[in-house]
Amino acid sequence: MKRIPPARIEWRDDTPCSPEFGDVYFSRGGGVDETRHVFLAGNDLPARFATCRTFTIGETGFGTGLNFLVTLAAWRHHAPATAWLHYLSVEKHPLDVTTLALVHSRWPELARDAQMLRDVYPPRVTGLHQRQLPGGRVTLTLLFGEAEAMLAATTARVDAWYLDGFAPARNPAMWTPALFDQVARLTRPGGTLATYTAAGAVRRGLEAAGFVIHKRAGHGGKRNMLTGRLATTPTSPLPDSTPPWFRPACSTVPEQREAVVIGGGIAGASVAHVLAERGWRVTLVEKQDQVAAAASGNPSGVVLPRLSADMDRQSRFYLSAFLHSTAWLNRLAARCPDLSWQPGGVLQLLDEDRKAQLGQLDLPAMILEPVDQAAASERAGIPVSSGGVIFPLGGWLSPPRLCQALLADQAGRITVHTGREIVRLERDGPLWEMEDSRGEMISAPVVVLATGQAVTRFEPALEWELDAVRGQLTCLQSSPGTNLKLPVCYDGYVIPAFEGQHCVGATYQRNDPTLEPRAEDDRSNLTALAQAVPAFAGATPNGGRVAFRTSSPDHLPVIGAVPDSGFYRRAYADLRHGRPVHRYEAARYRPGLFVSTAHGSRGLVTAPFAAALITACIEAEPLPLETELLDVVHPARFLIRKLKRGVV
Ligand code: SAM
Repeated sequence: MKRIPPARIEWRDDTPCSPEFGDVYFSRGGGVDETRHVFLAGNDLPARFATCRTFTIGETGFGTGLNFLVTLAAWRHHAPATAWLHYLSVEKHPLDVTTLALVHSRWPELARDAQMLRDVYPPRVTGLHQRQLPGGRVTLTLLFGEAEAMLAATTARVDAWYLDGFAPARNPAMWTPALFDQVARLTRPGGTLATYTAAGAVRRGLEAAGFVIHKRAGHGGKRNMLTGRLATTPTSPLPDSTPPWFRPACSTVPEQREAVVIGGGIAGASVAHVLAERGWRVTLVEKQDQVAAAASGNPSGVVLPRLSADMDRQSRFYLSAFLHSTAWLNRLAARCPDLSWQPGGVLQLLDEDRKAQLGQLDLPAMILEPVDQAAASERAGIPVSSGGVIFPLGGWLSPPRLCQALLADQAGRITVHTGREIVRLERDGPLWEMEDSRGEMISAPVVVLATGQAVTRFEPALEWELDAVRGQLTCLQSSPGTNLKLPVCYDGYVIPAFEGQHCVGATYQRNDPTLEPRAEDDRSNLTALAQAVPAFAGATPNGGRVAFRTSSPDHLPVIGAVPDSGFYRRAYADLRHGRPVHRYEAARYRPGLFVSTAHGSRGLVTAPFAAALITACIEAEPLPLETELLDVVHPARFLIRKLKRGVV
């Protein structure tokens, strides 16, 4: 993931134009009418909207977002009130928000949605960015990068395509056979396409990819345009490069949209909320007497990503999750005042080498901003011991408040049972049957396990390899001399006062089951704090808290459909012999069973993202993560590693 310079536009006769491609974003005087004629009518859209439950549009060339805005207006007008629109668009040269605003000002009738689009528009970095618009019903997935490669990295089922690259003669990269193959791969059986061009090479290319193509009258002065329908059945919405054992489940959405979420921490509450927003009835079961009782019960927590200097796949996962979750929190905070979300940045102190390494990541300043000691101190509001980087989109919040706000926001669809522990889980036909410690039964077609380390009891043969790592944090009374403006992270962290108390964290102790806070742990937290932020030197603890974070050997969460461990052990038993990958069967999963755990100390970043990923899997909708990154959090990755080494 790296910075993309903004697209340069010029105005020709009041129409935005790309000097690089020598072509216009939409035709002069056309705009809205042209979009309606070519893309909406070309895909028979208003009529198809009227009868759908969910609908997915794919587009090549997001440009100004005009097609998106016109589609949104038609969607609001024609689709049932409970239906959901996914709009997936690829763009190599995103416009900046100021230019978008200038272009959007041409269409006052679209102003409200245009403002919402600009509010959720992601930073200009390569990668997949999925955002939900305020008010629900619409998810926008922007794939920033080269069209063919980005489509190859996408998992989705598209109902209708808008092929809207610049003219084929000026921009052949948007009209290649390989790109058309990706379009066909991502199309639902019977899906359609429309494009303004009638070029012979485009027609032949689309036919070769499996579409039946028709010519229609074009818009305005144009004689012809093309429409098409997929005649073949695509084999899989996944690129062939995904190894069989990491292929995601291709689920069918159950008729009965009911789910049980086991676990009432951030992982459970966020997946319950995302499912409920999509119209599911959710029962959340928590064994403690209240939600957010375990690791999610810390009084406050920091929202920041974990990045390595080489932007490896793990960092790409964390950055995607961070951008997604902060946008999610911003959207929710606008309607849940009790959320306690405090955006405004997080300061991470770093030595000069590490700061230089992160500075070389080539990320925009709105994501990562290197600062020297003086600037860091000014931003923190009190002197700090070194420079570092600021994550301006980060922030902090109270995890228990977040959990409560999420459940309260969807109280009509989420039923919470506390003080009930699920002790047995069995599949019976299309349902999961669960028994709790009191012998009461509950059932649903979909179950999400979000019980930290305790998830392992439900599929014990999976080699989960989860650890419960003890963390003790120390509370400090706030004082005028410690008026922090943002969280400061070093080996530990200190957070601005919430309800009069700073949280100072946290120890990291494996194989240590001690529940009681220890004075020596407070001392170690405060020693590190005094070195990083000297104004806190001599502070005395005002209470502390011990929690056990579930963590995995690679410090990444475990997210997705629960693999069928018996199948894995049989089908992949000889992985150590290195046979050709295509000889193996695709992965099998427990139908309707999902897991979100091992969020470690980054749960505020990864758990909301996990909720989006799991919901997209359940709903068989565009995934919020590039396909090649799914294995980074795959629940069977530790079992697969062991099978490859021949040690199981
Ligand atoms: N649909 C857009 C709208 O509603 O404003 C107009 C799209 S404009 C005609 C074509 C878009 O394709 C431009 O935004 C351009 O940056 C983008 N593009 C050009 N080459 C590309 C490529 N190789 N990969 C991805 N996007 C590309």
